[in-house]
Amino acid sequence: MKDKNITEFENLITRLLKIDTISWCKYALKKDLLHKKVEPAFFDEVVKKSLQCGKNEAMNIAKSLSSHDIYHTAKNLGIYLKIIEQQVGANYLSFATFTTPNKIVINCTPIQRAVNLLNSCPTNPLPNLSYDLLLKIIFAHELFHFLESKNRSTIYTKNVKIVLWQFLWLKCKSNLRVASEIAAFSFAQEYCELDFSIFVLDFVLCYSFSSDFAKKIFDNVVKTGD
Ligand SMILES: [Zn+2]
Repeated sequence: MKDKNITEFENLITRLLKIDTISWCKYALKKDLLHKKVEPAFFDEVVKKSLQCGKNEAMNIAKSLSSHDIYHTAKNLGIYLKIIEQQVGANYLSFATFTTPNKIVINCTPIQRAVNLLNSCPTNPLPNLSYDLLLKIIFAHELFHFLESKNRSTIYTKNVKIVLWQFLWLKCKSNLRVASEIAAFSFAQEYCELDFSIFVLDFVLCYSFSSDFAKKIFDNVVKTGD
């Protein structure tokens, strides 16, 4: 990558690292198709409870496992973990997927590119973010989705619903997908004991493929935070 772009990347990420978690969550809400149906006060409650839900699940799983090694954890919990190498583009950004009941697939190509990008900065803004740690963070995010699918009848994120429409005594409700995503990020933050807001990684991973696409994330997050 050219020096000019590296400088730009470093400036943008330095700014994003100062954005608080609530602003990141509001940005995540905007990506949810149902966001216009969510009242601000209700959304504040969803954010608070989703962050707490992810944190609690991470603390519970940490108590029940003797190791935080991802392969050991996957084996212990009966998860089929597959690491693949696949190019991604601005139109198709997929870093990892969880498929019920127990399959997690992680694409290591964007992970390697994101780490290379950070290492090419004159002053790496996230010096502790190694390939292994980023792999673990992405695994942890998907691990939360595995745990919530196993506990779907009781876990907060699978039971928080919004009313899409109401007519007389009829109500049509829908799950709020963003609650799961916020909790998954919060889970990974706690599980990996990170000292920076994990949401910034969305920007880093995207920038390594498309600076234009990542700059749109930057603009939206900064606008939301103002
Ligand atoms: Zn997710």
